[in-house]
Amino acid sequence: MASSSFLSPDQAMKHLESYKHSDGLSVRELMDSKAQGGLTYNDFLVLPGHIDFPASAVSLESRVTKKTVLKTPFLSSPMDTVTETDMAIAMALLGGLGVIHHNLPAQMQADMVRAVKKFENGFITDPICLSPNNTVADVWAIKEKFGFCGIPITDSGKLGGKLLGIVTGRDIQFRPSSATTESVMTQGADLVTGPSGITLEQANEILRDSKKGKLPLVDSEGRLVALLARSDLLKNKDYPLASKQADSKQLLCAAAIGTRLPDRERLRLLVEAGLDIVVLDSSQGNSVYQIEMIKWIKSEFPQIEVIAGNVVTREQAAVLIAAGADGLRVGMGSGSICITQEVTAVGRPQATAVFAVAEFARQFGVPVIADGGISNVGHIAKALSLGASAVMMGGLLAGTTESPGEYFYNEGKRLKKYRGMGSIDAMDAGTQADQKKLDEIDNAATSRYFSEGDAVRVAQGVAGSVQDKGSLRKFVPYLYAGLQHSLQDMGTDSVAIMQDRAFSGELRFELRTASAQIEGGVHGLHSFEKRLYS
Ligand code: GDP
Ligand code: GDP
Ligand code: 5GP
Repeated sequence: MASSSFLSPDQAMKHLESYKHSDGLSVRELMDSKAQGGLTYNDFLVLPGHIDFPASAVSLESRVTKKTVLKTPFLSSPMDTVTETDMAIAMALLGGLGVIHHNLPAQMQADMVRAVKKFENGFITDPICLSPNNTVADVWAIKEKFGFCGIPITDSGKLGGKLLGIVTGRDIQFRPSSATTESVMTQGADLVTGPSGITLEQANEILRDSKKGKLPLVDSEGRLVALLARSDLLKNKDYPLASKQADSKQLLCAAAIGTRLPDRERLRLLVEAGLDIVVLDSSQGNSVYQIEMIKWIKSEFPQIEVIAGNVVTREQAAVLIAAGADGLRVGMGSGSICITQEVTAVGRPQATAVFAVAEFARQFGVPVIADGGISNVGHIAKALSLGASAVMMGGLLAGTTESPGEYFYNEGKRLKKYRGMGSIDAMDAGTQADQKKLDEIDNAATSRYFSEGDAVRVAQGVAGSVQDKGSLRKFVPYLYAGLQHSLQDMGTDSVAIMQDRAFSGELRFELRTASAQIEGGVHGLHSFEKRLYS
């Protein structure tokens, strides 16, 4: 073309409008499975948008159930090599949510929930107290069991008794264990207290000014009504994204259960321990057991939100939405340790599953959690672009300091065990436990796959290992920052706006051929080192 016939640059934007269709595909065109077949995250890309904001300004806030909004849209899987107390605490501190697994006796699972709920507080409304006749040994015992030793001393040894003093770590150092708490406690003019009825802000102010570690609150008669810990002010400062209950400031905690009758008793214990959200753990959620369970929970514990699943079709989703689900978990056979599709021939490619369910469920205000098959930040971004409100990860979070289990070495690599909950290994878990416990464990592991009564156990998962990923406290911020960059490239500064644009057809997608996938990975190098963050 001769340069004289070029259009002038200032006509570029106007000229763009003359194109009938935007570049690429709308999400509905992309996900037309009749034309394309089922897609995985690797089968497509999102086209870039216009950037007029820094990546750090991108909000990742997202609703994971009808009522719960997280600042970081990440959940950890209810698997016995992924989520116990440490993982659940770290996930909540970083703005996500941990779902504690149920391949263990109910009481142990409840203790884990309790530990998460006790980790951070605003007002501690049920502080552990002692009487003046208790001993230093009793304080050490509390420290051993709960991890803290700031203990108010009241005349009755209970909350509501008259406050006489407080014992803290320094008071018991170098003291004989037989010494009474009365002889070591801080009391009189040194004891700083706050009046009951003040706001949390006011109480925090007194605590800050007092330079003390604890602030007991007392009523007009000097009776202890609550306690405040300085360490909680630090936790609040250090973890600004933390997922917390608005009033108590306690971390949010979720846990999984099955859908059998004993699971009702299990849930009762979890609720007593302070559970916020229950996840009904089933590989195929469209069952009469799950529908009945949702209805029972809604009538028995209306305050508890229920994430139901798993589902991969609109039809399955509709049944669980109608039963009262507050959120849906999507995925069947896409997990990294999973052999369900191979064994049962049932399932769905994950990208198609997420879109099909999310498109339907969003009309009812029911958020969708994309569960399984997330192996990098890009997969998270793609799941959200298809309408998922959050992602659930197993393999990606296994092998962190906070995941259960010990590290071991194999061929010079530092590894941790990671296994599917439908693996024979997981079903056999707890062979060291006594038979009663074993029965309970056994049922919990097999019930997810409806195989509790089977003479032959059919595995739907494998057992393996993953490489050390260091601490979640570095890894999750990496995933978070990576996701912010992804949304920035899409030209959207929040998850909500990105999804509105996706469903309106404004956000554009492209299918990725097999060779495009090779092109998009590192290629043509003799050797390289893949460091993901620093
Ligand atoms: P935030 O400062 O962003 O956490 O705002 P919030 O509205 O959640 O908190 C209101 C008040 O509660 C502020 O004074 C916070 O410093 C305080 N606060 C928040 N979390 C905690 C906590 O875990 N413990 C204590 N003691 N105070 C908290
Ligand atoms: P301490 O100085 O040994 O008491 O421990 P820290 O103050 O460092 O940590 C106490 C943590 O445990 C805080 O996050 C509290 O919110 C939490 N906690 C939960 N329940 C209790 C309780 O009954 N007593 C005390 N002292 N802390 C509690
Ligand atoms: P990942 O993040 O490792 O790809 O997948 C984790 C998810 O796989 C879990 O959240 C759960 O939904 C699913 N899962 C866990 N164990 C098994 C299993 O043994 N079989 C199957 N089919 N899925 C599993």
